[in-house]
Amino acid sequence: DELISQIAAGEVVERPASVVRELVDNALDAGATQITLRLSAGGVRLITVEDDGGGIPHEELPVALRRHATSKITNLDDLETVATMGFRGEALAAIASVSEMSLLSRPAHQASAFLLDARSGELRPAARSTGTTVEVKELFFSTPARRKFLKTDATELAHCIESVRRHALARPDVGFAIWHEGKLVEQWRATFVPGQGDPQDAHDALARRLSDVLGEDFVTQSVAVQHRVGPVTVTGRAGLPDAARSRPDHQYCYVNGRFVRDKVLTHAARSAYEDVLHGHKQPIYALYVEIDPARVDVNVHPTKIEVRFRDSREVHQAVRHAVENALAAPRA
Ligand code: ADP
Ligand code: MG
Repeated sequence: DELISQIAAGEVVERPASVVRELVDNALDAGATQITLRLSAGGVRLITVEDDGGGIPHEELPVALRRHATSKITNLDDLETVATMGFRGEALAAIASVSEMSLLSRPAHQASAFLLDARSGELRPAARSTGTTVEVKELFFSTPARRKFLKTDATELAHCIESVRRHALARPDVGFAIWHEGKLVEQWRATFVPGQGDPQDAHDALARRLSDVLGEDFVTQSVAVQHRVGPVTVTGRAGLPDAARSRPDHQYCYVNGRFVRDKVLTHAARSAYEDVLHGHKQPIYALYVEIDPARVDVNVHPTKIEVRFRDSREVHQAVRHAVENALAAPRA
């Protein structure tokens, strides 16, 4: 069973950044408003993710580590409409099988926190405010073949930061901080509380987050995308040629709040750049596609980075027109 878990882990956990992605997903699913990461040796030696979300009741801590344990779906129909980031119940089990993991958590109603050591199964009271801290030590310590494929600490750290960046660009209402070897390396403050304020506030919050994460020049050298075709809404910002100089190769696409890598979306955006700016290479953009969840399948790949659209032509056209309109609009 250990071996099966370790093999399954290979699908989910490739490197420290994959652990970061899964743990931040979980923190966001738990309703966190502040997420703090502490890394050591590029995340290979240590990754801790602290959140102020809803926490895990102490009797559920051992369950959270079990394979296919998820609190997020109860039947197959839920797969159609699932709005949370995770839903397979695989991540914690997979990570625990290739590291030394512990969970420290306290739901608001519980008098104290509890700490679960994944390896020994020991569960004991501990101190913590409401929320969860997941600690992952010595990634791949028992699978040296995997560990060998890791790159330098600096490269692994860069991948970890990129993983958080992808989340951060979708959630300006959540604060993120990343520490490495005791030094604060990135900090993006929350600027927007959902359910309060108007759409303009949401728009400003996103612009602020884009500026914090991708650089001020990206916001000044980009145009707003705002377009709706049938069931597909596309928002975000598309960089003008100069914006790409500071950060080439940064294309961020989101579908219903999830970061995705998708050929339909990148092809649509590239076509728009080719049409309007005549072959502008490596554009930089952040595009947010909102679509009826029934028209997109997010259950394609364990890492959830890939999606399949029911009607990819519909999405392609929407994104292409959205970016074309934005780039072609007269600018002040
Ligand atoms: P999934 O996210 O697909 O449900 P995971 O293995 O990532 O599966 O997590 C298992 C379960 O552990 C989750 O369903 C959730 O109930 C709980 N959990 C994990 N991380 C957190 C967290 N940071 N805060 C609250 N609950 C969590
Ligand atoms: Mg998860």
